Amino acid sequence: MAPVSIGNVRKSYGNVAIMHGVSVDIDDGEFVVLVGPSGCGKSTLLRMIAGLEDITSGTISIGGRVVNDLPPKARDISMVFQNYALYPHMTVAENMAFSLTLAKAPAEEKRRRVAEAAEILGLGDLLGRYPRQLSGGQRQRVAMGRSIVRNPQVFLFDEPLSNLDAKLRVAMRAEIKSLHKRLGTTIVYVTHDQVEAMTMADRIVVMQAGRVEQIGTPLELYDSP
Ligand code: ADP
Ligand code: ADP
Repeated sequence: MAPVSIGNVRKSYGNVAIMHGVSVDIDDGEFVVLVGPSGCGKSTLLRMIAGLEDITSGTISIGGRVVNDLPPKARDISMVFQNYALYPHMTVAENMAFSLTLAKAPAEEKRRRVAEAAEILGLGDLLGRYPRQLSGGQRQRVAMGRSIVRNPQVFLFDEPLSNLDAKLRVAMRAEIKSLHKRLGTTIVYVTHDQVEAMTMADRIVVMQAGRVEQIGTPLELYDSP
């Protein structure tokens, strides 16, 4: 069970406040999309959930546990970035297994988890390839695979599709949705693309200048008169 609760979170850089008391309660297994114009604080909020950015005040809890002072590794989250960050000198399998390698997981467990993730993502035939031998969509899948092998309760996505061409972006939306259905994990997903938000979200959080402007289902936010 991993609901994510953001309680009156503020953030300042020096004496410049950029987030002014943001509160959002995300249910276990919910797919929540953060949208809003560039600079409104989406990425900062995501990074605070991930533990990559300090919170100036307020509380973030994951699975009912306050994580304010926990390092990223102890948070049961995994973050997928837009620039893939794959290691060029490692195969797909090695890239996917890397966090398990760091954690000194036994070879058998690594093999099993990589095989499972590869099956989910349709990467079974590509495990021996290097990133340069992959298409953009395949690289994105490997990046997701690296997260999936860790079996986190919460996935954080930071504009994962913005480097892909339009056609691939549409296909990957559907893939991420079906991944969500299959894994049942909580997802917090940042995008500046309203169509992406509409088609993927259970609920959308609209941010504006460091505040939450609206929260609701796609229907509530966009289809009401
Ligand atoms: P978004 O992801 O919605 O585009 P960000 O979360 O990246 O927005 O940024 C929110 C605000 O915080 C912006 O005004 C940005 O300039 C500011 N900001 C982000 N990182 C820093 C930093 N390291 N130092 C100072 N200001 C920052
Ligand atoms: P190496 O031979 O250096 O271990 P590989 O790319 O073959 O490099 O494998 C990296 C990791 O991925 C290994 O830890 C292995 O457990 C896993 N792995 C490799 N190939 C497969 C595969 N076909 N199915 C599942 N897991 C694999």
